[in-house]
Amino acid sequence: MRLLVIEDEHSMRIALTDVLQAQGWRVRTAQDGSAGLALAMEEAPDLIVLDVMLPGIDGFSLCRELRARGRLMPVLMLTARGHVNDRVTGLDAGADDYLAKPFASAELLARIRALLRRAGGASSAPDQITIGDVLVDFRQAKAHRQGELVPLTARELRMLQLLAEEAGRPVSRERFLDVVWEFNAMPTTRTVDNHILSLRAKLEPDPREPRYIKTVHRLGYRLELAWDGRGKRMEADE
Ligand code: CA
Repeated sequence: MRLLVIEDEHSMRIALTDVLQAQGWRVRTAQDGSAGLALAMEEAPDLIVLDVMLPGIDGFSLCRELRARGRLMPVLMLTARGHVNDRVTGLDAGADDYLAKPFASAELLARIRALLRRAGGASSAPDQITIGDVLVDFRQAKAHRQGELVPLTARELRMLQLLAEEAGRPVSRERFLDVVWEFNAMPTTRTVDNHILSLRAKLEPDPREPRYIKTVHRLGYRLELAWDGRGKRMEADE
């Protein structure tokens, strides 16, 4: 992921860059609105963290200009504490979310992940997968075994979708919590394990010997032998 941080305040810019780089994201920065707009147009980052109060072009105008030029990447706007109207103005200007300063880095990261997910998550998952004799249709949010409905909860479906998106790569318990439970819930990694047990009970021929939803020691889970709806094998990447 490539992120652009547009923030004139030196210490804030450094802190943001550190936090985002620690996630493995590549970060470019700009110190004022015009430089930020130029970088956003040239580099088409996956997401922009945009301060409202900037010298030159302010954050609202910058965001409006981006949208007017057809750039639709997610924009997280940073507003000053107590400026309630900033939120409305920001969303009107085309921002996708906003965060009031000061904020905790955990909340910043959770909001960025949510935006990235909304922007690109859906497209990377297949519409359908087959797990043994169960056909899971993510578009219709339903699963069937030989014509009979297999009742899956919304969380279970989302967990399967995340496993399918990763196409055989392991998904950590923390990632499940992050994606499926969002940051305001307070589940534990044990919650993830319990939901996996439930999924296996519904989908696996023998839940005690899982063939499809595999445990990855000390890490999480991965989907074995997932096929998409057109019969094409999704290659496991190991
Ligand atoms: Ca500022």
